Amino acid sequence: MAHTLSGKDIAASIQEKLVSDIAEMKKKMASFQPGLAIVQVGNKPDSDVYIRMKIRAAKKVGIAVQHINLSRSTTQSQLVEKIEDLNNNYDVHGIIVQLPLMSDNALDEDVVTDSILPTKDVDGLHNQNAGKLSRGEMDGDLFIPCTPRGCLSLIQYTGIKISGKEAVILGRSRIVGSPVSEVLKWHDATVTCCHSKTENLLHITKKADILVVAVGQAQIVKKHWVKPGAIVIDCGINSIDDSTRKSGKRLVGDVAKEVEEVASWITPVPGGVGPMTVAMLMQNTVEAAKRDLEKRLST
Ligand code: NDP
Repeated sequence: MAHTLSGKDIAASIQEKLVSDIAEMKKKMASFQPGLAIVQVGNKPDSDVYIRMKIRAAKKVGIAVQHINLSRSTTQSQLVEKIEDLNNNYDVHGIIVQLPLMSDNALDEDVVTDSILPTKDVDGLHNQNAGKLSRGEMDGDLFIPCTPRGCLSLIQYTGIKISGKEAVILGRSRIVGSPVSEVLKWHDATVTCCHSKTENLLHITKKADILVVAVGQAQIVKKHWVKPGAIVIDCGINSIDDSTRKSGKRLVGDVAKEVEEVASWITPVPGGVGPMTVAMLMQNTVEAAKRDLEKRLST
């Protein structure tokens, strides 16, 4: 039976460490406080929930957080102008744009995420950060997207050596699947990235020592897809009907529960990758702030 990789517990200890990192920063400059801006266009129930979780976590660790909720009628130039204001705001160290953009106008997500200064791009979605990650420029001022960075931390928590292992990633989105593949490749795993056109999927997943699933289809990965002893990271968040619940719904991942019978470690849903994504956003924001503080102190 697999060990549970509790993202909730690991995230809590990361956030505790961030509280002390911020206290250290304040010793160097009493008035200094890391700042995060969350930009949202329109509303979407699940985005609203994610934003509330991010705001709660930011307040808990001592990050000054502002939520800018623009109306559905926002145009691309108005949105980019707002982001440029935040780029020029010294109190803001991290900027994220909550996706998807719920606008009545056609907004280009790439243009929007590329308008964030790479040094404030704590979601790691700017082309410059994505390019650095794909080239393995892991040191310096890179920001790794939050969910992939959370997946890496979860895998590292198990204590297994990633180098040389077979890693299989299901999904190639620019937010999860592709950057997870890059991260594990540059941690010296041998990576296979699968998608909806992959043939013989079972044959491939069965080889994985590390299996990361980010497909968005409830419980698609079954026990017989998984190599005994594999580490399984389930990024999926899917709402399914459940008449035993008051709400009539429940959240499940992309991995069926039976997989815990064969895996060595497995992340639960909820309580696995989700809390780690939030914790990594806080960590990236504190890192952005640290870099800014060092710059201010050296000038
Ligand atoms: P996308 O829909 O953007 O991407 C899904 C990927 O899965 C695509 O690359 C698609 O292939 C691939 N895919 C779809 N069906 C199959 C299949 N049958 N076999 C193999 N590959 C398939 O989703 P995201 O990456 O944004 O999210 C994935 C899941 O992770 C969702 O459940 C989402 O809610 C969750 N998520 C969780 C986060 C967290 O914090 N826990 C954060 C972000 C996402 P193709 O490219 O060919 O279309």
